[in-house]
Amino acid sequence: MSTLDAYREHLREMGKLESALALLHWDQRTNLPRKGHPARAEVVGKLTKMAFELSISDKLGGYLQDLEEQDGLNEVERASVRVVGKAYRRHKAIPPAFYEEYAVAAARSETAWEEAKEKSDFGLFKDHLERMVDYARKFAEYYGYEDSPYDALIEEFEPGMTSAELKTIIVPLREKLVPFIKRLMEDGTRPEDGFMQGSFADEMQRALSLKALEAMNYDLDAGRLDPSVHPFTTTIGPGDVRVTTRFLPHNILSGLASSMHEGGHALYDQGIPDKLRWTGLDEGASFGIHESQSRMWENLVGRSRSFWTFFAPIAREIVPQLSSVSVEELYRAVNTVEPSLVRVEADEVTYNLHIMLRFELEEGLITGKIDTGDLPELWRDAMKRYLGVVPEDDAHGVLQDVHWSSGLFGYFPSYMLGNLYSAQFFAAARKDIADLDQKIASGKLSDLLSWLRENIHQYGKMYEPKELIERVTGEKPDPSCFVRYIMDKYTDVYDLH
Ligand code: ZN
Ligand code: ZN
Repeated sequence: MSTLDAYREHLREMGKLESALALLHWDQRTNLPRKGHPARAEVVGKLTKMAFELSISDKLGGYLQDLEEQDGLNEVERASVRVVGKAYRRHKAIPPAFYEEYAVAAARSETAWEEAKEKSDFGLFKDHLERMVDYARKFAEYYGYEDSPYDALIEEFEPGMTSAELKTIIVPLREKLVPFIKRLMEDGTRPEDGFMQGSFADEMQRALSLKALEAMNYDLDAGRLDPSVHPFTTTIGPGDVRVTTRFLPHNILSGLASSMHEGGHALYDQGIPDKLRWTGLDEGASFGIHESQSRMWENLVGRSRSFWTFFAPIAREIVPQLSSVSVEELYRAVNTVEPSLVRVEADEVTYNLHIMLRFELEEGLITGKIDTGDLPELWRDAMKRYLGVVPEDDAHGVLQDVHWSSGLFGYFPSYMLGNLYSAQFFAAARKDIADLDQKIASGKLSDLLSWLRENIHQYGKMYEPKELIERVTGEKPDPSCFVRYIMDKYTDVYDLH
């Protein structure tokens, strides 16, 4: 067997384990009975260890070394060796005993966070968080970095992005958004959205979500929709990309928006071509690029006037309470802005400010400029400056997100980048597709999907985010498209003059 064949075979073996893990994970968050969790955790632990061992095996190291020196690999093979090699070196840099120690501490920390959040008592979590910060800093040292240890952590989620570059994006974005939100709140006319509230059966909401997913051309023969507490998308393998959503009984919009969001993630994964299967490239380019797809379908499409021109009659038929609401009323209602305390409930205008706050704080923690004990206070202070609202307790403040409790630092910026990328991609699509808005208004969303397939999905992880964005849009990651989109849209929705 040639080295290339042996290498491919090795990746296939890894892929099969990951597929099994994905299914177990999906099951755990949708169907697994409570009492089944402890035993399941052991099964997952076993398979995770097997997959990890394959990912750092000397055999794989040998193949990579051979292939890195080989000429005559095609573009996909070269990209595969680059991406798999990078992950191999990152994983290899971590001593197994250290990793195990961290994993145990992280599990304890997550449990402590749950309790602290429930009791809204940061004191119960503080020492665990401090430990997680210490671990994250050690990870950064093992991985290595040029300027900031925080960069080594961002790299896991957004390859090629650094905290210095993030600042050049965040500062101008913040300077535009903060005063604009103030203007919206003070001078704007808030849309009427009371008709979105009421009592809505799950079956009704599911029917509405399925209509949206069908319109998006999500392939239900290669996926399915199930309820879960925290909506997510999981790829189990080719032909099996599942979405989950959460229906709130009193709000008709929330479940629909989260279905379209997850549907956007799923379309990306359903669009990965077979030739990338089990090459290490059969996933999105980064967390930020993945989020750009979900955000595009949720917001740039799902909260557009043209989408509601098409979707209003469908919504009216499925949801009797909406039967006499006009397109314009629906469009405005899905675009209300509300500076709020909780990130996951934030609208598309205020969302990025929640991320900036987290970026500032976690960068400070990792570089040692911020002490964990000062976090609750710093959180309240930043909320006041950015959004003008201050949490009364830590449960709605510094304790609201799960990420830090398991040592996930450097993840948050992807959410913001996803929003910015989505506006850049959509602007590029609008240039390429004639009458895009009219097409959306007539329910023909396939042109947009084909464009995404051709420009983004088909490449999987072949290009790093920055390179992909430049190939597609001719620009670097840049907040100005997003700012323009937000200002144009909400100046109109909020009737600003
Ligand atoms: Zn990794
Ligand atoms: Zn998402």
